[in-house]
Amino acid sequence: MKPVAKSSKLANVCYDIRGPVLDKARAMEEEGQKIIKLNIGNIAAFGLMPPDEIVQDMIRNLPDAAGYTDSKGLFAPRKAVVHYCQEKNIRGVTIDDVYLGNGASELIVMALNALLDNGDEVLLPAPDYPLYTAAVALSGGNPVHYICDESSDWFPDIEDIRRKITPATKAIVVINPNNPTGALYPESLLLQIVELARQHQLIIMADEIYDKTLYDGNVHTSIASLADDVLCLTFNGLSKNYRSCGYRAGWMIVSGEKRHAKDYITGLNMLASMRLCANTPGQLAIQTALGGYQSIKDLVAPGGRLCRQRDLAYDLLTQIPGVSVVKPKAALYMFPRLDPKIYPIEDDQQFAYELLAEEKVLIVQGTGFNWIAPDHFRLVFLPNSDDLAEAVGRIERFLSHYRKR
Ligand code: PLP
Repeated sequence: MKPVAKSSKLANVCYDIRGPVLDKARAMEEEGQKIIKLNIGNIAAFGLMPPDEIVQDMIRNLPDAAGYTDSKGLFAPRKAVVHYCQEKNIRGVTIDDVYLGNGASELIVMALNALLDNGDEVLLPAPDYPLYTAAVALSGGNPVHYICDESSDWFPDIEDIRRKITPATKAIVVINPNNPTGALYPESLLLQIVELARQHQLIIMADEIYDKTLYDGNVHTSIASLADDVLCLTFNGLSKNYRSCGYRAGWMIVSGEKRHAKDYITGLNMLASMRLCANTPGQLAIQTALGGYQSIKDLVAPGGRLCRQRDLAYDLLTQIPGVSVVKPKAALYMFPRLDPKIYPIEDDQQFAYELLAEEKVLIVQGTGFNWIAPDHFRLVFLPNSDDLAEAVGRIERFLSHYRKR
């Protein structure tokens, strides 16, 4: 048989969060080695289980959840999402504007596939959550990264966005709260992005999957609530705020200027139909979750487990020579910088490999998030305080050897 090659469509598609360094970690685990994993925001894997109410309702509903549903999803959870839009001040959303998916991921890929022709451009943050860059490439589009500025709390650089808009630009992706930086954008900044989208007729794709995972009493503004006259797609779901990554329950809201998007919406509906529907048990969890149980609040409040772990990781990392970190305001991640004068890293994937091999700590290299230089990495602060302190201690030891090379 001839060798079977992957499709050329995959030539520029890359998703390093689950890339070769993770394969190496798996191989080490198979040999019996114990690794501290700071690589994936899989909350339940760290003992932070979903709220009981959600689990109980899923169990109760399971016998009635064996059938397909409407391809956009069941009525009651979509209605719950409509109410959620009302709470977040996203106006004019009806049940027809809500699509349920197997996680937000499926809907993100669907939305980009339905939109892009070969050569169309999409503005994406750098650093980004790499699914977006991968999905744009898979859809035949060109990912164009705008810089988020570390010296300004990792906020998007509006002038850089403006410079990168071309006649081929179709959409701008805004990840707020941000993965991997933990940034949270103020309303004034969101308004500037909306204004650019308005001027250049760009679709706003807003990823708000961490919108309740907020520290220090911060509040989140949905960009769609500021953009009645711009077409907005907002992605969200239960994975993070409700610690239910494995239930694969997400949603997409279409809002704003929908009148001129009828053809696109027909495309979205067709793709939603092709995958028949999102898993029914996951859909049923959405209604219970949005009905009020929001215990992530306790975890992120001052003294809560996630808040303590964020503070601990920040305090320990910033004591290491040549390491600086913008303290996250939201989400589950930080994106530390390694001063290139002290750590002249040329290949940050190799750096991640060596850290894994020498200290059995798994992180993801910054270029895996389409960051522009090999001088950052992402750390997930989900492990409990003991493991986190141990992991950062090992990173410190590794870096002290690195400095002496
Ligand atoms: N969007 C962002 C910014 C994420 O960080 C993640 C997962 O880490 C997702 C989407 C995926 O969400 P889901 O589990 O709903 O597919």
